[in-house]
Amino acid sequence: MNARLPSPLQQLTDPLLERAGVTLRLKRDDLIHPDVPGNKWRKLLPNLRAAHAAGHRRLLTFGGAYSHHLTATAAAARAAGLASVGLVRGDELADRPRNPALAAAERDGMELVFLSRADYRGTLEALDAPATRHRLAQRFGPAHVVPEGGSNALAARGSAATVAELAAQTAPNGLDERDVLCCPVGSGGTLAGIAAALPPGARALGVAVLRGGQGYLESRVNALHRAGWSGATFPRWEIDHDHHGGGYGRIPPELAALTDRFERDHGIRLERRYVAKTLACLHHRARRGDFPPGTRLTLVVTGPPSASD
Ligand SMILES: *Cc1c(COP(=O)(O)O)cnc(C)c1O
Repeated sequence: MNARLPSPLQQLTDPLLERAGVTLRLKRDDLIHPDVPGNKWRKLLPNLRAAHAAGHRRLLTFGGAYSHHLTATAAAARAAGLASVGLVRGDELADRPRNPALAAAERDGMELVFLSRADYRGTLEALDAPATRHRLAQRFGPAHVVPEGGSNALAARGSAATVAELAAQTAPNGLDERDVLCCPVGSGGTLAGIAAALPPGARALGVAVLRGGQGYLESRVNALHRAGWSGATFPRWEIDHDHHGGGYGRIPPELAALTDRFERDHGIRLERRYVAKTLACLHHRARRGDFPPGTRLTLVVTGPPSASD
């Protein structure tokens, strides 16, 4: 998969943030790959390599009906010459016309299998149990299995590369205690990788885009750290739970207005379910005086806008 790496780093002039003494730059991971964008590329690449190394010809993964992860996995598998199977939450969807995300996955050759919510949850909860793996292999053939949202230890390690690139792009000064790296949090793999790769002093701020993830998401990130970094823990990160805008996919009018203004001022279109919420959190926290003057914010743009943005 040809990728644009390192992803570009873009300095912005934002009057509102400047008033708070804070600068903002964008790490444009949204430009990495046209079909497997942003953090999906960073997370999937190590999984594709692991699949090849294990001799698997197939990826198997999980997602909701509107999952970017399913679409990206289908595209990545296809580009890598692998078959793909997507287990989709909700068997009522099986006979309905496909929404754009599922239609795109199918065009890329993904076999979609619709599970009842109970079956879906039960399979995911016991995903690492040998009996579950055996049942999946019996039904779909041997496969490299990627969890819902794509966040496993390999994915977290893949997303850590964003920080290494950023450090190189800002050399010789690099990153220090003035730096806060910011990203959205869906299933947590992206934040886990960024937090684990921080140089001394720098901090990471993740912004939850789902409601009600407090505690759960933190424990997911900690688990990914233990799994990906031999039991290590990393202290300098936090998750904001106050800027989900009402839940996944909800875009309240203030958020839409802020996004529209940003797009006009900077000539950059923003993905709204994740990236715009993270930007809104930064603006709000800067206005509130959370960041000491001199803070350098880097917003990791984890994906491009979709047709509906
Ligand atoms: C999938 C997605 C995320 C979520 O990343 P996690 O690693 O699951 O937390 C963030 N931003 C965009 C644009 C995405 O498509």
